Parts: sequence; structure tokens; C-alpha cells
Amino acid sequence: MGGNNDQFWRHKLLHDLTDAQWESLCDGCGQCCLIKFQDEDTDELLHTRLSCKLLDIGACRCTDYDNRHTRVPDCVVIAPDTVGTLDWLPHSCAYRLIAEGRDLHWWHPLVSGDRDSVHQAGVSVRDWAASEEGVPEGKQIRFIVKDSAIKRILTGRPAKIPPNEA
Ligand code: SF4
Ligand code: SF4
Repeated sequence: MGGNNDQFWRHKLLHDLTDAQWESLCDGCGQCCLIKFQDEDTDELLHTRLSCKLLDIGACRCTDYDNRHTRVPDCVVIAPDTVGTLDWLPHSCAYRLIAEGRDLHWWHPLVSGDRDSVHQAGVSVRDWAASEEGVPEGKQIRFIVKDSAIKRILTGRPAKIPPNEA
């Protein structure tokens, strides 16, 4: 294993993590920063390819993380007390995985030791997201994801497999 030797996520509860450990759990996929809609008839969650205006899509990082909740009031607070209620979080999200008592995936930077592995595994939004900037709200619905490969990513079933299992 090339990543974090302590593997704190395996033996600590989310509530017991240090701030640094909590932050390091985010894999940098950017999926939670996509604009979403909910189908009024079916309640189905519909992802768009559009990302929040503050997301640096290339890096899949928030460009104003410290002020994100002021700049983007819709930016959801993910915390130990709330993570279990956020059923829209991607199944691949590390916070969700740990809250559900599961382990991190091979591509998580803490496991791989490489921040790029989340991109190499095809889990991040880097290759297909576009900024919401400049897209009128009424037209965002046109960007709802229809591509089946991207849908697989958003439902936690990315197409790519670990290099050592290829
Ligand atoms: S979905 Fe989870 S792991 Fe991915 S960027 Fe959001 S908080 Fe981080
Ligand atoms: S404010 Fe930052 S963390 Fe929140 S949704 Fe936008 S890019 Fe993501």
C-alpha cells in the first residue's frame, strides 16, 4: 500500500477524527459539487454535468474553501452528525463509505498515496464537468447527464478497475 500507514479511517469513528484527518478523507472527486435536480414525479435525483462556479474542475477542488458557505449558500455542510442524512452523496464518497462502516477504495489518495488516482480511476468529474458560470438557471436542465458511462460514475460504479487487477 502506497498511502497512509496509520489507516485511521479503519479504526476511528467520524466523530473522533482530527480536523486534518477529516479533510484528508475527501478524495477530491468533485461529484458533490455538481448541480442537481430532483424529478418532481419520481423524486429521482438528476445530476447535471454542471459544477458549482467555485469548483476548479481541473483540480476538482473548491477555489474558496474557507468561505464556501458564504459564497455559495447551497453548499452543503458535510459533518459527522449530518453525513448519514445526506443520501444524495455519491456511493463512492469517503464520508459516506466510512459512515456506512465500509473501507476506502483502492483509488482513494489515502490508500494509493497519489492524489491523481481518483482521476485515473475515472471517479472524478474532471474529464466531463463544465462550470455553471454563464449558464442561465433556466437552461441548466439541458445539462442533465444522459451518458451511461458518466451515470455509472455517479452511481458509484465507475468503469475502470484497479491497475493490479487489469
Ligand atoms: S463527494 Fe465526498 S469525497 Fe467527493 S469531493 Fe465531495 S465530499 Fe469529497
Ligand atoms: S462552494 Fe466549493 S465545496 Fe461548495 S459546492 Fe461549490 S465548489 Fe463545491
